[in-house]
Amino acid sequence: MQLTSAQRLKFQLFEHGLSITRDALQALKQAAAGQALSSDDFASTSGIILRLEDNVWVNAPVSIFNPNFVVNSPYLLEHGNDGFVVRGNGLESRAKYWPQPKFHSQVGADGLPLTNYVVTHGDRARLSPIHGCGMVCKFCDVPYGVRYGKKPIPAMVDAVGRAIADPLQPARHLLISGGTPRSADIGWLKEVYRAILTSFPSIDIDIMMVPVDDLLNVEELGLMGVHQLSINLELFSDYAARRFMPQKFRQGRNHYLNFIENSATALGAGRVRSMLMVGLEPPEETLHGVQAIVERGGVPVLSPFRPDPTTPLKAMPPPSADLMQSVFLSAMEIVDKGSAHLGPSCVPCTHNTLTLASTSQGSGHHSHGQPFLV
Ligand code: SF4
Repeated sequence: MQLTSAQRLKFQLFEHGLSITRDALQALKQAAAGQALSSDDFASTSGIILRLEDNVWVNAPVSIFNPNFVVNSPYLLEHGNDGFVVRGNGLESRAKYWPQPKFHSQVGADGLPLTNYVVTHGDRARLSPIHGCGMVCKFCDVPYGVRYGKKPIPAMVDAVGRAIADPLQPARHLLISGGTPRSADIGWLKEVYRAILTSFPSIDIDIMMVPVDDLLNVEELGLMGVHQLSINLELFSDYAARRFMPQKFRQGRNHYLNFIENSATALGAGRVRSMLMVGLEPPEETLHGVQAIVERGGVPVLSPFRPDPTTPLKAMPPPSADLMQSVFLSAMEIVDKGSAHLGPSCVPCTHNTLTLASTSQGSGHHSHGQPFLV
């Protein structure tokens, strides 16, 4: 598989991040119209969202939000008469910038920022019902710095409605994710799922969650209209799982794989994704994970490790572009053999994953809408 310049740039940007010229920074600020350049809300969404040529979406790390590893990147965002261009090491692509929705700078009826509940990336909003997390994974910023707590359901319903109605970047679909509940809050989170699924029946709603006991009743969620589940394996090797995500390790890899298989049987093909993080374990382990997910009827999603400045792994480097590209190409062979595909299938949602649009070489094959780009 021959990758284009824009496609290769995506891997390089995940490793090195992006430098920005003074003119380009000015143009970004103008396009952002007073908002921050990035929502910077999760480890993997801390960068600026660009669409390169060949429909390549990338969440490019920048030093403003990732000073821990973006230092003098050889990849430069420039701005001229024809708009934005990314250049470096012989690679080049025109680029469009994705400005944040209006609601990101607004408050809800409770006086709190709406981003306390919902943040949009591309064409998808993400609702996080829980502050913090009942688990602690060392690569994830969610449990660090924020105390565990539940958010009020009416405020969450209001925030999702505001994200869908946003005049600049209306959310076309929704992911409910965020932290894992403590056992005492499982009933409450089921109520959240019910409230959101029944309040917004006209959009696709996915749930990303750790398979803890009694939380995800897949048949019931299917009847309520859930679109997809994301049951993230994250790391395949015992060694890395024990080291970086001890609670998930104790649940056991087979627990995850069995849950993926049973959910895929209940919901149907293509409706259960599972994320694997690239860069915290040997690549062959990640590829074993891809194979195992495909064999269980799931859709593998490759997520590049991005060291978050608030986590214990802040000083670890991201994986090299060569390693990411090689894992991506090998994973494509595995999914092709299994008549499967790499997720996510929504092209704008590939901004922080090792997935490419199928119009060129990859698996992403549709958009829920056309996000506004500058
Ligand atoms: S369970 Fe999920 S949200 Fe919680 S720390 Fe681990 S990766 Fe982060």
